[in-house]
Amino acid sequence: MQVFNWINKGITNFDEMTDISKELREEFKLKYAIPDAVIEEKFVSKIDGTIKYLLKLHDAEFIESVLMKYHHGYSICISTQVGCKMGCKFCATGKGGFSRDLYPSEMISQIHTAQKDNNIRVSNVVLMGIGEPLDNYDNTVKFLKLISSHQGLNIGMRHISVSTCGIVDKIYKLADEKLQVTLSVSLHETNDEKRSQIMPVNNKWKIGEIIKACNYYFLKTNRRVSFEYTLIKNVNDSSGHAKSLIKLLRGMNCYINIIPINSIEGGIYGECTKAEVINFCNILINAGVTATIRRTLGLDINASCGQLKARNVKTFLGRNNKIESIQQN
Ligand code: SAH
Ligand code: SF4
Repeated sequence: MQVFNWINKGITNFDEMTDISKELREEFKLKYAIPDAVIEEKFVSKIDGTIKYLLKLHDAEFIESVLMKYHHGYSICISTQVGCKMGCKFCATGKGGFSRDLYPSEMISQIHTAQKDNNIRVSNVVLMGIGEPLDNYDNTVKFLKLISSHQGLNIGMRHISVSTCGIVDKIYKLADEKLQVTLSVSLHETNDEKRSQIMPVNNKWKIGEIIKACNYYFLKTNRRVSFEYTLIKNVNDSSGHAKSLIKLLRGMNCYINIIPINSIEGGIYGECTKAEVINFCNILINAGVTATIRRTLGLDINASCGQLKARNVKTFLGRNNKIESIQQN
């Protein structure tokens, strides 16, 4: 229990375990390593103070996390995998391929690192960084249980959101855990054929199956499900799309988060104007659907949804394994 407490406090060295004998600490040093995520680069937005961290893991893999300040406190967007297998066409992570799953300790490290670096306490956690959390299910659930425990970071489950592209069998499994976390589903389309074109995962699980799973999630947890809808110019942004969205979600206890698409390098998907985004959102609101437009933070440092892609940084490693440049979108 003492060791658990220290690890949960985010120590990075066994010598910081001051209530454990020196002999035992020496033994630990020989046998174990404390999981860590070391800051390799830090980008601070001049616009809103959002901080994007490029973190190096023990095996020289890279991930990113983003710390945002809201009026109610600090929120962190963390990565759950190195890369992602899902290959969504509009997402920088999806383009970079997959390397490996993150351990629960590596997810926790992202929070500790940001907290220590800024001497703050994080109150909200969103699993919306690099990776698909439900494709790393067991580690994600362990992480959720650890950070919400009283001996851990004590971040209430209701302050945590898990975002998924729609891994249906795992939505059912998560519902049965009855964890009280917010489930966010990245929907982006209401037509199966079109959704499959931009999100290959839709070839396996169709929209109807996702909706059924979300209803089950609500039934089991009594938590309102949130749907992310990334608005892409001339792809899913017409008033017809808004109407199909209203029809699809009618009667569900849910809310919609409209995310204006963030352009990615080489991306073929265009951004809607501010007026078009507002108009789309208003169609939903006028039909009685709860909808909000996601505030885009950290625009100048490419810290927004879908722009994280740290794995590619490997390409830029110099001969002495030092980063020589970071590719900016
Ligand atoms: N894999 C999970 C969580 C990480 S992606 C998921 O897909 O839900 C986090 C969110 O960013 C998702 O809603 C995703 O669809 C969205 N996203 C991806 N690329 C984006 C882009 N270029 N612009 C805006 N949102 C994007
Ligand atoms: Fe993976 Fe989510 Fe990006 Fe799709 S949007 S590729 S699921 S990280």
